[in-house]
Amino acid sequence: MATLPIITLPDPILRKVSAPIERVDDELRTLMDDMLESMYAAPGVGLAAIQVGVPRRLLVVDVAEDGEAPAPLCLVNPEIVSLGPETRVHEEGCLSIPDVRVEIERPSTLTVRYLDREGVLQEITADGLLATAIQHEINHLDGKLIIDFLSSLKRDMVVRKFKKQARSTEAL
Ligand SMILES: [Zn+2]
Repeated sequence: MATLPIITLPDPILRKVSAPIERVDDELRTLMDDMLESMYAAPGVGLAAIQVGVPRRLLVVDVAEDGEAPAPLCLVNPEIVSLGPETRVHEEGCLSIPDVRVEIERPSTLTVRYLDREGVLQEITADGLLATAIQHEINHLDGKLIIDFLSSLKRDMVVRKFKKQARSTEAL
């Protein structure tokens, strides 16, 4: 297993729409393992393949709390089947946008269909943080980021900050 570098703003790849995965094979399982390791190392509760530079529809999540047994989930080609009527507000962070948190209201439950590690079709109903995390990661697969939930003024401020940071890093 390997820890992969996580791509951050303002890298334009984060805006790419990820393509469906045709086959769940050993190569993809290696990517899943590397993504899980990278997510745990960050640490974070979710990671989409595009965040490590792979524009394919794959995400990993684990919302188990400290002290609980790990509960990794790998979702290939996830599709939302239904969203619940209630909503939940959560202050979301993103490994690709360090130190920025955005309060986002999303449906508090959802049913999602996906292929698992073995390529078997699964369907789960999630709530709470897991429901939030899955929606956040599916947004990544469509090139959508948490800053898109901000007003355009605030979003521009965040993007400018990251562009400035990127320039000063290059200068070193
Ligand atoms: Zn994110």
